[in-house]
Amino acid sequence: MARVYNFSSGPAALPEEVLKKAQREMLDWQGVGMSVMEMSHRSKEFTSILDSAKQRVKNLLKVPDNYEILFVQGGASTLFAQIPANLAYGFETVSYLDTGVWSSKAIKEAAKYAKVNVVASSKAQNYTTVPDLSEWQIDPNSAYLHIVQNETIGGVEFDFLPETDLPIVADLSSTILSREIDISRYALIYAGAQKNIGPVGSVLVIIRKDMLERSQDSLPSVWNFKQLALNNSMINTPPTYSIYLANLVLEWLDEQGGVSEIEKVNVEKARRLYQKLDSSRLYSNPIDPAYRSRMNVPFILQDESLNSEFLVEAENAGLKTLAGHRTVGGMRASIYNAMPLAGVDALIEFMSAFEKKHGY
Ligand code: PMP
Repeated sequence: MARVYNFSSGPAALPEEVLKKAQREMLDWQGVGMSVMEMSHRSKEFTSILDSAKQRVKNLLKVPDNYEILFVQGGASTLFAQIPANLAYGFETVSYLDTGVWSSKAIKEAAKYAKVNVVASSKAQNYTTVPDLSEWQIDPNSAYLHIVQNETIGGVEFDFLPETDLPIVADLSSTILSREIDISRYALIYAGAQKNIGPVGSVLVIIRKDMLERSQDSLPSVWNFKQLALNNSMINTPPTYSIYLANLVLEWLDEQGGVSEIEKVNVEKARRLYQKLDSSRLYSNPIDPAYRSRMNVPFILQDESLNSEFLVEAENAGLKTLAGHRTVGGMRASIYNAMPLAGVDALIEFMSAFEKKHGY
């Protein structure tokens, strides 16, 4: 069976070369006579995989030496809870920017630990934009400032950071490794693996070492960032196979020329797709053009009664998972690193034929 172009927001498409390599190594990883799934997490073989994944992250993202790289279990939603638990001790408030569904969920969890100061919100604009920096009211006494730089559901992305003395904590789940970033501007970044890193199962956390001192011994050990760092992310059994596949994806990204090269492809993919949306009478994207996501492109059809036909015909054309998030409807094309330019071109071609067929 031919593989399709999968536009899922996560779990998302993985590079075919990675899946093939995993297939080749499934029964016997590098001559050890067993699958990575069957290996002890304490074995030298698995330790070498974990170390390789960390080293690749360090090189690809140019992570400075004063940061720890962790693979944490649970999902990005677990981080929503772990972050205030680890970083807010001794502080009364935490500051959060509200730019969409994922910001709001993080705020809800943080409110269980501390008073949340919402620095600015685009809720009144239906989360179609990012509040101007001049409107952000950052409480200088907060434990940290939390931002979500790419809202996966809304399709809103921004790359600027405020000048602030507060440690910046960022959810980069759906933008990590898709564009160059300056890690030294952040105190902590986290990203669920199932978009640009690998399959679901782990969260990549990059934390500045001084922040580890905030984690109190009273925290559950498996939640304690300091303990996780001291134990090389292995307080308990980590999601070994997920980390192995992440390492293969990172290796693949290296082979593509790294983040700066894939960023050029990502810019071009997004440019072509938004150009299609902007020049169409059937399709449109509701997001402020200054903050349109390169990774998640939501769009609506002028005539909503065509939605199901669009989805069925797209599937028949090998273009899968284009339905928008269940809470917002419409369509969404997630075009992470593993989506080739040819996949975006195939989508655009299909959209053009569909619109012509319906007289638009
Ligand atoms: N943050 C962002 C930006 C996300 O896109 C997601 C998942 N789509 C999450 C957090 C939550 O991730 P998880 O399902 O791994 O908890």
